[in-house]
Amino acid sequence: MKKYIVANWKCNPATLKEAENIFGLIKKEVKIPEVIICPPFTYLSSLKGLALGAQNVFFESKGAYTGEISPLMLKDLGCKYVLIGHSERRKYFNETDEIINKKIKAAIGAGLSPIFCIGETEKERKEGKAEEVIERQIKKGLEGVKAPIIIAYEPVWAIGTGNSCGKEEAEKMSLFIKKMADVPVLYGGSVNASNSKEYAKMDGLLVGGASLIPDEFITIVKNAV
Ligand code: PEP
Repeated sequence: MKKYIVANWKCNPATLKEAENIFGLIKKEVKIPEVIICPPFTYLSSLKGLALGAQNVFFESKGAYTGEISPLMLKDLGCKYVLIGHSERRKYFNETDEIINKKIKAAIGAGLSPIFCIGETEKERKEGKAEEVIERQIKKGLEGVKAPIIIAYEPVWAIGTGNSCGKEEAEKMSLFIKKMADVPVLYGGSVNASNSKEYAKMDGLLVGGASLIPDEFITIVKNAV
């Protein structure tokens, strides 16, 4: 079974020199095509030799939309993948399920493979609403979407907190998601070299903080494939 290991560098590192250094160290050790590096937009054209993904995309292909990056631009840069709907985009940039749906369709239209991020907050989980939230995010996010995508189940309470989701809970949610969408389901949320083996039954991992530490990320990849 093919596994996807996705590195989400978020808004890091601060310089191209650092980005090239991290990328080079990872590339030296990791030869498999399923490793996807998602650096900030500005480094995409300089990093070569591993599959690349962007962390966001706009839903129009061009026009008067100051500050936006279109799917065609990403495709032109050699990007194959794009993260869409990350919880930090939903929280800090007010991305709704409707906006996310438009982005997924636009990305597919340009030939990019969306990695669609979904997950419940701590409050929603405590209130027993996790499955309801996941169901809504999938239904609305994938409305009218026919092409294959990848889903990353990323409980919001596990992202960047060191409080990773237990494997039973992640596997249970993966089965729930697969009932609605027959797609690869990755797990994301505080994955590190020590806990990465726990998620062997998932179709891969989405790694944030630990993906910027080459030795840690290389160990995660080796544990996962
Ligand atoms: C993420 O950014 O999607 C993520 C899972 O971050 P972290 O691994 O740092 O929790």
